[in-house]
Amino acid sequence: MEYNYTIQVNEKACTGCKACQLACSFHRSGCLDLEDACLRIERDGCGSRITATFLAEFCDMCPEETVPYCIKFCAADALSIARRKKDLPNN
Ligand code: SF4
Ligand code: SF4
Repeated sequence: MEYNYTIQVNEKACTGCKACQLACSFHRSGCLDLEDACLRIERDGCGSRITATFLAEFCDMCPEETVPYCIKFCAADALSIARRKKDLPNN
């Protein structure tokens, strides 16, 4: 059985700090540049609404790390790995 792995963001627990986004950019490019990340976290101005986007096509799941960088640097424990059988639809 083959699986797809994705990073899931619990938008209720997320504070919008973007530490995961910076950590991912460092993993991918060696630089701290939010635009290089596979995760995009957006806060609704001064409000509390968080929108998270995961760019699966660019994520390699940090294979050289015991814990993916994005998860490691999330102080709110808002990230997790989700596994899905490849032949199942996304929803
Ligand atoms: S697992 Fe690695 S590559 Fe994928 S989003 Fe997290 S830090 Fe980025
Ligand atoms: S590090 Fe955690 S709390 Fe901060 S933006 Fe990412 S998911 Fe949200």
